[in-house]
Amino acid sequence: MKPYFGSNKPKVILKKGKAKPFWFHHPWIFSGAIQEIKGNTQNGDLVDVFEDSGKFIGKGFINQKSQIAVRLLTWDIHEKIDPEFFHRKIAEAIRLRENVLAMSSVSSAYRLIHSEADGLPGLTVDRYNDLLCVQFLSIGMDQRRDLIVDVLRQEAHAATIVEKYSPGVRQREGLEEIEYRVYGPEPPEKIVITEYGLQFEVSLRKGQKTGFYLDQRENRRKLSRYGHQKRILDGFCYSGGFGIYLATKSKVTEVVFMDSSAPALELAQANWKLNQLEGTKSAFIKADIFEKLVEMKEANERFDLIILDPPKVAPDTASLKSGLESLEKINRLGIQILNPGGILVSCDCSGLISWDVFLKTLNKAALDSNRGIKIFDCSSAGPDHPVNPACPENAYLKVVMSEIS
Ligand code: SAH
Repeated sequence: MKPYFGSNKPKVILKKGKAKPFWFHHPWIFSGAIQEIKGNTQNGDLVDVFEDSGKFIGKGFINQKSQIAVRLLTWDIHEKIDPEFFHRKIAEAIRLRENVLAMSSVSSAYRLIHSEADGLPGLTVDRYNDLLCVQFLSIGMDQRRDLIVDVLRQEAHAATIVEKYSPGVRQREGLEEIEYRVYGPEPPEKIVITEYGLQFEVSLRKGQKTGFYLDQRENRRKLSRYGHQKRILDGFCYSGGFGIYLATKSKVTEVVFMDSSAPALELAQANWKLNQLEGTKSAFIKADIFEKLVEMKEANERFDLIILDPPKVAPDTASLKSGLESLEKINRLGIQILNPGGILVSCDCSGLISWDVFLKTLNKAALDSNRGIKIFDCSSAGPDHPVNPACPENAYLKVVMSEIS
């Protein structure tokens, strides 16, 4: 019997044997899995996706400029992808943060919409006090920006919405580069957020990511009690979150902040003052950590607790091998300047690196340094970054706390 592919709407037919991940609701269809695109489609259009046998799989946005050719939004043939769909998904995401997680009792800044995990692939929204920072990271979302901004205004009661990106992230989707754009009154250059009672300056215009590393909130808090009488290196510190939590909650002997970016260190220094920590010994070092840790080792400098929170080392499959090499190297260097019995906090934020591979990398770094490693805590991003179990790439953050003997 000839396969039946439904109406004459544009449709995507998968290659034989490629449909399995989508039965389990994985939302990304890579271009290599596609056999044929029927009908006229523009990038950003909604398409229906079928198995080669004609069985319906789902509906999603097509983008032939991206490695991810279709991002699925629904697996229900009857569900309409209309303004009501976006209203419903956005309202559900906000309800989780506000009604279930009570995020505002913990922090004035948190992730409100987390892309695939909230059923909105390519859309992330962060709240900073009464401002929102939005990123349209798929062409389908980008083309519906006016609708989404409108819904966010209504549902999240935000007067101002800022759109902001790290360089290059939109390019991967074939989208025009945008650095910064404001919907509503221009917000102040700097705002101050409160997280677990600590204060942090955030520049929505100039900051990294959307302004602050919201995903590390629970890990900063968890680590903060392990700093007693310790000399600490906050490596890749950005605005100083880890070191500031440690110095506030533990009686530390010194915190050394290190980052290659001068504005990041200025921000860390401003935050140190903002939390009245001037009485605690500190240093702010602008350096490439890969080089500086070698120097420190040779100069016999040692620490009791080291945090290594590098930027994404493997943004795509082509960079996976070199990314893992960097991860291993930085952890090896860290281990070598830790006193015996010291704590190593190793982070990785590459969705393409699994827990299994990350743990193997840490094991190798310890073995090569002839040191023992006992992991006492493994965690990921906070609850405002939920995970869609169908899409493990979404659970990108891995944080391992270990004792190095
Ligand atoms: N731990 C931080 C987030 C770190 S983001 C927090 O909780 O807020 C990664 C940081 O690494 C960025 O600030 C970036 O400027 C810095 N960085 C990137 N490459 C670096 C290098 N080779 N040496 C030192 N810092 C680097």
